[in-house]
Amino acid sequence: ATPTSIMVGTGRAAELGILFRKGEALQSLREADVVALDKTGTLTKGRPELTDIIVAEGFDADLVLARIASIEAFSEHPIAEAIVSAARAKNLGLTVVTNFEATPGFGVRGMVDGSDVLVGADRALLRDGIDVSAFANEAELLGNSGKSPLYAAIDGRLAAIIAVSDPVKDTTPQAVKALHDLGLKVAMITGDNRRTADAIARQLGIDEVVAEVLPDGKVDAVKRLRHGGRKVAFIGDGINDAPALSEADVGIAVGTGTDIAIESADVVLMSGDLNGVPKAIALSKTTIRNIK
Ligand code: ADP
Ligand code: MG
Repeated sequence: ATPTSIMVGTGRAAELGILFRKGEALQSLREADVVALDKTGTLTKGRPELTDIIVAEGFDADLVLARIASIEAFSEHPIAEAIVSAARAKNLGLTVVTNFEATPGFGVRGMVDGSDVLVGADRALLRDGIDVSAFANEAELLGNSGKSPLYAAIDGRLAAIIAVSDPVKDTTPQAVKALHDLGLKVAMITGDNRRTADAIARQLGIDEVVAEVLPDGKVDAVKRLRHGGRKVAFIGDGINDAPALSEADVGIAVGTGTDIAIESADVVLMSGDLNGVPKAIALSKTTIRNIK
């Protein structure tokens, strides 16, 4: 491509709310075979809400919610906000927390009212030797409906299964369809539960799912999607998406995301609407074709 045509292409993109931070991206984007997207905050709104809390025998739902919310008040994870909001909505008082500990990709723990409280993904409890199989049926039902199951343990005993739901953005189904219409494969990369990720992927017609990825595992996920020489465009918004945005053949940040994601990307969508991705790819194809 000539410098002039790149300038025209990037100018046209800017009118569509797509910022090309690197001119080469306008050329490389047309070669993408797979578009891999982060789930939370990229495909979904990123503002989960607590929908269910089911307690084990001998536990009180409000008491469990008050304790886990007390701990989540120290976490910045969107799941934490959902749990704290739910406790506030029920006017549950939050209590003093000591020994707060957050493990990215697992969950949080701390001491509340003299009890050791742990909340997070199944692997967070399993790592502590706490069996979660008593809630296997509930986890299956919640996951199959696209909700994310979480577990709480109090003093080493399984206390509750909780679910949060993070709806897909209204614009996402159309964006996935537009990517398919361009002949691309669409993949999802997420730290969330496998069953939940599969349910959302099914709902959207997404072709490939890489689930239960630990925060530092997204780079590896991008590398694996490259099998057979495929070129991968990765779309993300979060701090833990930054390395994968750099690793991908083209990294596209959602403009509503974190600064670090934006700085690591080749392309930035000025809004949260993923329809900017197929538009950018289509533009890349026409710009380059016009020069040939
Ligand atoms: P994602 O961005 O896909 O949510 P994360 O790596 O941030 O991925 O989290 C992966 C999983 O770890 C979450 O789905 C949740 O099960 C658990 N988790 C992480 N942080 C918390 C938290 N503050 N409270 C409860 N669970 C958490
Ligand atoms: Mg995200």
